[in-house]
Amino acid sequence: MRAKQFIEEKIRAFDGPLTEELLRDPGKFGLGQLPRTMEPDATTSVVCGYCSTGCSLNVHLKDGQAINLSPDPDYPVNLGMACPKGWESLTPLAADDRGTSPLYRASSDDALEPIEWKDAAQTFCDRMRTVQREHGPESIAFLSTGQICTEEMALLGAFAKFEMGMIHGDGNTRQCMATAVTAYKESFGFDAPPFSYQDFEESDVIVLIGSNLCIAHPILWQRVLRNENNPEIIVIDPRKTETAMQATQHVALRPKSDLTFLYGIAQLLVENDWLDSDFIEAHTSGFEDFKEHIASFTAERVSQESDVPLSELKGLAQKIGEGKRVSLWWTMGVNQSYEATRTAQAIINIALMTGNIGKPGTGANSITGQCNAMGSRLFSNTTSLLGGHDFLNAQHREKVAEVLEIDPAKIPDQRSWAYDQIVDGIETGKIKALWIVATNGAHSWAHQNRFRKLLSKLDFLVVQDIYPTTETAELADLFLPAAGWGEKDGTLINSERRIGLVKRVSRSPGEALADFSIFRYLASTWGAGPWLAKWKTPEDAFQILKKLSKDQPCDIRGIKDYREIDEAGGIQWPLAESSSSIETHRHLFADGTFYTDDGRARFIYDDPQPNPEPPDEAYPFCLLTGRGSSAQWHTESRTGKSEILKKLHPKESYAEINPDDARALGIKSADRITVISRRGSLELKALVTATVKAGQVFIPMHNPKVNRLTLSSFDPVSRQPNYKACGVKIAKC
Ligand code: SF4
Repeated sequence: MRAKQFIEEKIRAFDGPLTEELLRDPGKFGLGQLPRTMEPDATTSVVCGYCSTGCSLNVHLKDGQAINLSPDPDYPVNLGMACPKGWESLTPLAADDRGTSPLYRASSDDALEPIEWKDAAQTFCDRMRTVQREHGPESIAFLSTGQICTEEMALLGAFAKFEMGMIHGDGNTRQCMATAVTAYKESFGFDAPPFSYQDFEESDVIVLIGSNLCIAHPILWQRVLRNENNPEIIVIDPRKTETAMQATQHVALRPKSDLTFLYGIAQLLVENDWLDSDFIEAHTSGFEDFKEHIASFTAERVSQESDVPLSELKGLAQKIGEGKRVSLWWTMGVNQSYEATRTAQAIINIALMTGNIGKPGTGANSITGQCNAMGSRLFSNTTSLLGGHDFLNAQHREKVAEVLEIDPAKIPDQRSWAYDQIVDGIETGKIKALWIVATNGAHSWAHQNRFRKLLSKLDFLVVQDIYPTTETAELADLFLPAAGWGEKDGTLINSERRIGLVKRVSRSPGEALADFSIFRYLASTWGAGPWLAKWKTPEDAFQILKKLSKDQPCDIRGIKDYREIDEAGGIQWPLAESSSSIETHRHLFADGTFYTDDGRARFIYDDPQPNPEPPDEAYPFCLLTGRGSSAQWHTESRTGKSEILKKLHPKESYAEINPDDARALGIKSADRITVISRRGSLELKALVTATVKAGQVFIPMHNPKVNRLTLSSFDPVSRQPNYKACGVKIAKC
């Protein structure tokens, strides 16, 4: 195809109205947008759609279609590197089982059958309205994701809550980042990860807590390796992970003794006066009370309760206390716990008391999980009102209503239920219809058997995904086929607050539409008000999000447009309208001013709580779950499509068991075993290894049945599931 003709076609498609003809054959028209200057055989950079690292990939096109890719050498995040998932990003788009048309199950005895988009949209609206009529407006809810673009999340949230009248909508970011959100909000006054990835290269002490960086965020581990300060790398994790093996010190603490352990470190910092008293005095509140709280966490007590030898505990406190630039990083080992928020805040407290914040190489730094977890935190309209606002605040509701040009009365004056509360709502009969977008809860949610049973109780289950073959989509009454990463436009926000661009470099198959287009189509079929006309394209939506960010810590009004994001190599928030230049790497809190009312960071703490299900006589092992390899992503709905990625991890799922336990149970590596909890069981292969201590068993979270075992217990503040510590027993098959 000639370049001019090709570009004209794209522009026509981009500018054209959302007609039925276009919806019937989006591949023919090219729904979405390619940069208008792009030649059909161009190379263009696209931010990766898997993890929150946010690497940029140079996608090479032939006749306007992506044919391969390579890591972007100039992007400040990945500097020419990519992990296996990134290299294989295009493969899942070409999978045979892509959803190519909407599917509908007329009754529970029927199979899903293809239907027209217009019928799918009408069915969606009719059945949702019927449920609302019969059970009240709050009886419908949505569960969304950190995998779609920010503009899409915002449109979904606006449509569902301001137009359909939903109160309850949450996302799978509850499973990964909710704890970081609540911890930062309470301690800093806003959900504001303070760091830049450059800090990995500038620290002299790097403390990784519950983070297997080597395989979960491999490019960030590469950034650690670029550090020229010969840093101490300390890994705090019950398991000897790939990262622990590479560290200068591995602290193998008892599972879920982390809060006690961190208070013990803080107490040693106090005892030895390894404090930044000037910083504490000028920029924090509550330190004296915190000091009193931790006084009882003596080194002897903490050593005993965490199984960490006294000398190791004291040595670690000294490294932190005497380090010049100490950065503390955490991920799911902290976030997925029954006392996760206080544990994250115990990390924040250590950074505050030692003055390790706001300077290069420092920080209390939460690394997010999904590619757009941060976008979801700010703009999904789930827990927070659009733009990091508060549903409970009348002024915030007025402001959002004004920007969106809607009646403020349409904005709920209450916060949504969290994911687990929505699930409980199905059980109690309060939630009767659920719309699940780009997440596979039937695999990933805790206490899986219960979750799947509850989905079958719903009057109407809608699943919007790129595959109708996920465990969740197979249970749907209505399946809506979505375009995947690389088949649509929008922005993602990575762990260091960097906004990056996703572009349409590949045509979606059949009638699969960008999530943005699906939301628009459903909203227009619903009869949404005139506000929808302003959300014609993702970039229109981005301009609206900019306005919503006004006067917020996440102010992005200084970003002109998509082109500027592209040319700058991504842009970290905030960027105020008055900003004269865009720095590549920026920290928050360089001036010691936080987002609380008094500008001071708060020391927040609590008493450690007992594990809701510790190992006991009947279930003597503690189950640990986590990432299996850098080639696997969550429920493997995408990575499972790549033959290359499948060769990079064990073919069969396994359970790691300590040699002492294996000997006692008569188990050898490769034996078939059954792991049983109070909720379910699964059969898999044994891997006898000293990576876990006696009394522990580790199973990768990618195993589709692992959440048959896990427990419905949650952090009371963040309501994040406690995936990492329940009791199980092991039997040889
Ligand atoms: Fe993509 Fe994350 Fe891999 Fe980078 S590290 S290529 S963002 S999956």
